[in-house]
Parts: sequence; C-alpha cells; structure tokens
Amino acid sequence: MKRVSIFGSTGSIGENTVDLIARAPEEYHVVALTGGRNVDRLAEQAIALNAELAVTCFPELKQRLADRLSGTGIAVAAGEAALLEAAARPADWIMSAIVGAAGLQPGLVALEQGTTLALANKESLVCAGALLMETARTHGASILPVDSEHSAVAQALVGEEIADVERVIITASGGAFRDWPLERLPDATPEQASSHPNWDMGQRITVDSASMFNKALEVIETREYFGFSPAQIEVLVHPQSLVHALVGFNDGALMAHVGPPDMRHAIGYALHYPERRRLPVERLDLAKIGQLDFRAPCERRWPALRLAREVMGRGGLSGAAFNAAKEQALDAFLARQIRFTDMAAVVEEVLNAMDGDGALKCDRMRLDHVMETDHLARKCAAEAVLKIGTDA
Ligand code: NDP
Ligand code: MG
Repeated sequence: MKRVSIFGSTGSIGENTVDLIARAPEEYHVVALTGGRNVDRLAEQAIALNAELAVTCFPELKQRLADRLSGTGIAVAAGEAALLEAAARPADWIMSAIVGAAGLQPGLVALEQGTTLALANKESLVCAGALLMETARTHGASILPVDSEHSAVAQALVGEEIADVERVIITASGGAFRDWPLERLPDATPEQASSHPNWDMGQRITVDSASMFNKALEVIETREYFGFSPAQIEVLVHPQSLVHALVGFNDGALMAHVGPPDMRHAIGYALHYPERRRLPVERLDLAKIGQLDFRAPCERRWPALRLAREVMGRGGLSGAAFNAAKEQALDAFLARQIRFTDMAAVVEEVLNAMDGDGALKCDRMRLDHVMETDHLARKCAAEAVLKIGTDA
C-alpha cells in the first residue's frame, strides 16, 4: 500500500486529492491529514480514509477535532509544531496543498524524509525555490508539480532534453475581470473577484487569478522548478482554460497540453507518476468546443506580470518579499482596506523599499533568511496598506 499524507486536505486541492484516494481505498494507507479552521470536515475525511492522524494548525480547535474523532482511534494534534511532526511521519507521497507561505516549512520537512512531494503550494517555490530544490537534492526526494500549467509543462517534457527547449508558454484565463473596462477595475469588490469563469478553486487563488498575481507566482514557479531563464517564459491569455501550457522546442515545434479544467488531472498525474492511470475527468469534445482563443496579456490591466519579471531580475530573497507582500495586500483587499488595483501598488512599494535597503540580497538561501524577509515584507506591506488605503 502506498503511504500518503495530505497537507491542506480541507481545501480545494485537498478535497480533490481526497476524492481520488477515496476511489481506491485498498491502494492507500493514509498517514496524516491536515487542515485549518474546518475541523468538522477534517474529522469526516479522517474517518472516511481511516487516517492515522488528523492535525489542525489552530491549537484552539484541537478539542473540537478531538471530540469529532473520539472513539475512532485516530490520533489528533494541533499547532505549527504538530504540522511539522506530521510532515516528518514516513510517507511515500505527500500532497503540499496548504495555501500561502505557511506551506513552506511542512514542505521542507517532508522533503527531508526523502519522499515524493506533490507540490500545489506554489508559494513555497516562489519564496524559497533554491532552498526547496536543494533540500530535495540533498535528501534524494522528488518534487512533482501539481499546478496545472507546471504539470502540463512536465508532461510535455517527458523524453525531451531541457537544452532543446526554446520557450515555455503558460496560459491564463484572465480571471473575473478579463473583459472589464480598465476604468472599472478600481471599483471591483472582493465578491466579484472571487468568482472564476472556469475553475472552482479556493478564494485566495481565485482573487489572485483576477489580479494575475497567481500567474505572476506561476511565472516565478516555472523559473524555480524547471530552471528556464525569465526570457524563455511567456504568458498567454486563453479564456477557455483548456490548453494549460505549451513548450516550444528549437525546431519550432510547440507541444501543447490540452485537458479539462479539473485539478484531479494534475493531482492524479502526480499521484500515479510515472504511470498514467484512468482518471475521473471529463473527456474533451474538441469539435463541440470548436474554437480556442489566445491573446497577449495587457500589463496595464495586470501589472503583477511586470512585477514577476522584476522579482526574477532582482533574485535573492525578492520572491519571499513578493509573496508575503502579495498575501498582505490580498488580505487588505478582502478586508476592504484597499482597492483591487491597489494590491499591485502595495507589492511594488514593498519591493522597492526592501531592495533599496539591501534587504533582498543573499548568496546562499537559508530558511531563517526567508522567514525574516517574509516577516519584514508583511510589516512593510501593512504600512503601505495604511498609506495607500488612506490615499484612496
Ligand atoms: P484553499 O484555501 O481551498 O485550502 C487551503 C488549505 O490550507 C485548507 O486545508 C486550509 O484549512 C489550510 N490552511 C489555511 N491556512 C493555513 C495555515 N496557516 N496553516 C496550515 N494550513 C492552513 O486553497 P486551495 O486548495 O485553492 O490552494 C492550495 C494551494 O494549492 C495554494 O498554494 C494554491 O496556490 C495551490 N493551487 C490551487 C489550485 C486550485 O485549483 N485550487 C490550482 C493550483 C494550485 P481550512 O480550510 O480548514 O481552514
Ligand atoms: Mg495554475
């Protein structure tokens, strides 16, 4: 039996992973499931999958989780240290699907046990790509991308030489405001930003899709995971979200990955890798779909894409600052302290301020540097939110 753990099991990626595992319970031994606030759902999942351990990151919710699991024999734990202990429990395959920088440390601990880490948590690659890849190398662990675009690129690269790749194109739906007039964007509300035209995802990544901060993270993720240069990475707006990525080779061929907008494809590919098993996803009828559209992204509409290039140019710890500032700006937008279009301004201000202070330089990345940068960037972003929010 394959021993599996799911970090962030109560989220959108987590639920899709649980769905795949629950379809073949005889094949899996579930070691640990972790969640946050939704302990009722976490307990249901732990019972359904007969998990060894259920962990909530919130200590104040431990009792409620214990009550839900009393008499089941499933162990219960809570808090940050418990999450890290769960990540150290031996497993053959670990899904990293916590949202935000909070996913970094459990991911690193999981890699230290030499496991296969299915990585949905792109933020950890953005914050500390060098550290994550080095930890995987040192401990003989592998990282499999779960983000749909990166899974698509990995699939297009099977049997190919990286040196033969000229460019990589990742697609973006354009999110909720793709066709809005630019002058309406400042008035966009959190509710409007939280509805995605094609994908059903967690709220934070859905809003990040509307602002293209999600794609900005993914551009950096492409660089960190595959090692392509910034000039090789392109973004293309593709409203149907059926072509997830294209890899261009030096003979002019473009290999496109086409599939339904269902994360169970990328999760299932990582779960069964290197096999390709049948997956319960829709089979596309291209004749019915009829048309696939592509267009270049407009950087006035989506300044996050320009910021991603700046981050890659600056290097060092700027990914950690970028992600932390983005998370703070998103919180402030969701709390209605700043406007939709202010998020990019907050992030840019943080990057400029920290770079000016020399705080983003580093020769060899260490976890304490990353955490310190994250902390500083959040503080700096909170100040920028106050300033920009007052100006608004
Ligand atoms: P969700 O918000 O739906 O789920 C996040 C999960 O993390 C939940 O289990 C949540 O618990 C838990 N969680 C929240 N905060 C913390 C914390 N501080 N510490 C530990 N656990 C926490 O997110 P998604 O599933 O949408 O996204 C997960 C990751 O996958 C993100 O990195 C995202 O960028 C990436 N991703 C998501 C895709 C998607 O289709 N959703 C596609 C590609 C990548 P609870 O809900 O119980 O509070
Ligand atoms: Mg993606």
